[in-house]
Amino acid sequence: NNTIQSVLKNLGIQDINPSWSTGSQWGPIADHPALTSFSPVDGAKIADIHAADTEQYESVLKTASAAALVWKKVPAPKRGDIVRQLGDALRAKKNDLGTLVSYEMGKSLQEGFGEVQEMIDICDFAVGQSRQLYGLTMHSERPQHRMYEQWHPLGIVGIISAFNFPVAVWSWNAALALVAGNVCVWKPSSKTPLCAIACQHILAEVLKANDLPEGISSLLIGNAVGDQMNNDKRIALVSFTGSTRIGRIVSAAVATRFGRSILELGGNNAIIVSKDADLDMSIIGAVFGAVGTAGQRCTSTRRLIIHEAVYDAFKEKLVKAYGQLRIGDPLDQNNHVGPLIDKGAVQDYLNAIEKGKAEGANFIVEGGVLSGDTYESGCYVKPCIAEVENHYEIVQEETFAPILYLIKYKTIDEAIALQNGVPQGLSSAIMTLNLREAELFLSANGSDCGIANVNIGTSGAEIGGAFGGEKETGGGRESGSDAWKGYMRRQTNTINYSDTLPLAQGIKFDL
Ligand code: NAD
Repeated sequence: NNTIQSVLKNLGIQDINPSWSTGSQWGPIADHPALTSFSPVDGAKIADIHAADTEQYESVLKTASAAALVWKKVPAPKRGDIVRQLGDALRAKKNDLGTLVSYEMGKSLQEGFGEVQEMIDICDFAVGQSRQLYGLTMHSERPQHRMYEQWHPLGIVGIISAFNFPVAVWSWNAALALVAGNVCVWKPSSKTPLCAIACQHILAEVLKANDLPEGISSLLIGNAVGDQMNNDKRIALVSFTGSTRIGRIVSAAVATRFGRSILELGGNNAIIVSKDADLDMSIIGAVFGAVGTAGQRCTSTRRLIIHEAVYDAFKEKLVKAYGQLRIGDPLDQNNHVGPLIDKGAVQDYLNAIEKGKAEGANFIVEGGVLSGDTYESGCYVKPCIAEVENHYEIVQEETFAPILYLIKYKTIDEAIALQNGVPQGLSSAIMTLNLREAELFLSANGSDCGIANVNIGTSGAEIGGAFGGEKETGGGRESGSDAWKGYMRRQTNTINYSDTLPLAQGIKFDL
C-alpha cells in the first residue's frame, strides 16, 4: 500500500482529480466528483475524478483549436524532438506508470511495464517518422509541369480509448498524431482515468519545458465526452479503440459529418493447431494468449482450432497447464492471472458460461468466481476451457474474459474456414512446421484477419507493424508501417512552369 501511495504521488494523482487538462492547466476541483476509480486488485478506492461538463468541453476544444494553428507551423523534425523527450520522460517514469497500470487496470506488473515499454517504443518510432513524412512525385502528362503530393496535418485528433490498454493506446495515437502536426484531445475509459491523468502530467511537463502553448495535448474525462467528440466537426479524426458495439455508434456519427475515423474494435482470435505443430510451443502460445491479462486483450486467444490427430494429446496438455495457473494479485510476480476489470465484467463472464452450456458447450476446465482473503475485490475468476462448435452464438461473440473454446478439424481448408467464420477479424495464428499449410494460411485464401502469425500466438504485437483488423474489428490501422498516413491529409499539387495552359486529357478550350 505504501508503494501505491508513493506511485500515486510521483504521478500527480490526488484524492480528488480534475476532469480536464489542456497541458499545464487543469480543471477546478469541486466537492462532488462524478467518478471513482476502484482497483480490481483489492477493491480499494484509489481516487475520485470529476467529469467534464459541456462548458468545460467547449473551453478545452477552443484551446485545442488555437494550439493547432501554432503546432502545425513547428517543423516536423522539431515536433519529433518533443516526442523524443516524451519517450525519455516515460523511461524515467516506467516503474511508477507501469505499477499504476497494473493496480488500476489489474494486468500483471510485467504487462504493466510492458505497456509503458510499448509507449517508449512508439515514441522512438515516431521520432524517426518525423523525418519521413514522405509524399510521391509523379510525371505529368503535360509538358513543363510537375506533380507531387504532400502530407499535411489534419488539425485536432480525438482519441477515445478502452480500459484494457489504458496508456499504450493513447501513445500509439498521440506519438504519430503529434509528429504529423496535429493536436490531440484524449477521452480515456472512465474505468482507468488515473492512468490517463498520469500520462497527461508527463507530456504536459515536456511541453511546458519547451515553452509550447496549452492545448497541444488535452484530456477530457467523463462518459458524455465520447458522444460530444463523435459529433464535433472541429475534430477531424476520431481514433476509437473499444468494443464493436460502441464502435458502430462512433463510426456512424463521425461518418455522418464526413469526419474521419480509425476504428480498433473487438477481436475473436483463433490459433489453428496443426497435426504438424510443435505442441509444446503451441501450449505456451495458447495458454498465454487465453489467460494473459485475464483474457482482456483485443488479441486474446478465444478459440483453438485443433487437428483431430493431435486433439486429445493437446487437450490433455492444456488441462495440465491450466492446473498450474496461479490466480491472484497481479502485482505479485508469481501469479499468472489477475482480476477482471470490475464486477460487471465478472457477470458477463458468468453469463457467457451459462449461455455456452445452454448451447451445448462441454466444459473440460470449469470456471467460477474466486472468493476469500486475497480475492476480496470479487473480480478474480477461473480461466476455463470448453469444447464447442464454431457456430454457437456465444462462440461468435467476443467475451472479454478467460474463456477458451476448443474446436476440432480434419482438413486445413476446414480449419481456415472455421478461423474466418466469425464476424471479427483482428488476430490469427497457425502453429505448424508444414510450409505448405503456413503459406496457405498467409495467402489471400488464408486468414482474413489484419494480423496473421505463424508459430506465435495471437496475443501481443510489436509497434513496428500496422496494427488493426478487418470486418467488425473496424478496418483501422495504428502504430507502425505507414499507419502515420491516417493522421494526415494528402494533397496533390500540379505546377505549370510553361507559358501556356494545356488542359489534361488534351481537352481544347480556346477563347
Ligand atoms: P467500450 O467500447 O466499452 O469503451 C471504449 C471507450 O468508448 C471508452 O472510453 C468509453 O467511455 C467510450 N464510449 C462509450 N460510449 C461512447 C459513445 N457513445 N461515443 C464515444 N465513446 C464512447 O470498450 P472497453 O470495455 O473499454 O474495452 C474493451 C473493448 O475494446 C474490447 O471489445 C476490445 O477488443 C476492444 N479493444 C480493441 C483494441 C484494438 O486495437 N482492436 C484494443 C483494445 C481494446
